[in-house]
Amino acid sequence: MSAVALSPLLTHPAYAALVSAPARSIALQNLHTGEGCALTYWEQGAYVPEALATINHVLRDHRNNEEHVMDPALMDLLAALHGRLETSAPFEVISGYRSPATNALLHARSSEVAGKSLHMEGKAMDIRVQDRALTAVHNTALAMGLGGVGYYPHSDFVHVDTGRVRQWEGA
Ligand SMILES: [Zn+2]
Repeated sequence: MSAVALSPLLTHPAYAALVSAPARSIALQNLHTGEGCALTYWEQGAYVPEALATINHVLRDHRNNEEHVMDPALMDLLAALHGRLETSAPFEVISGYRSPATNALLHARSSEVAGKSLHMEGKAMDIRVQDRALTAVHNTALAMGLGGVGYYPHSDFVHVDTGRVRQWEGA
């Protein structure tokens, strides 16, 4: 299996468990398409291109099937979060990649959707975990101190992204 060379050093303390692991895995279940994947996306010091391609497909914009490169660092963030949650359940994905057309549609409908969302750059995901309370997912994501964390209790998901560290609460 071929592997790409670039693999950033994960120096943040939240990545301690990932850095010492020989491989990194992720399990995703897209609630809109019913499609999922459970795979090793990093091993032997590098991301696995085939795995990232599968992830990009699962996380495509379900409204128009547009795919986009998802930030591998987002998978690292989620893998670290998953480890801390001590669950074997997959992440349920409410939203992964959003095409410009879809984001514009959602932005027009709701003031809670940013006009320039990190979902459009493949750097954000809206998630929950079946066997963990949303508050646990939220608090654990906040405690990691990585990227953006949005809490949407009524919609029942937590937004995580690889942008700058910040937090907010939605509906
Ligand atoms: Zn989001």
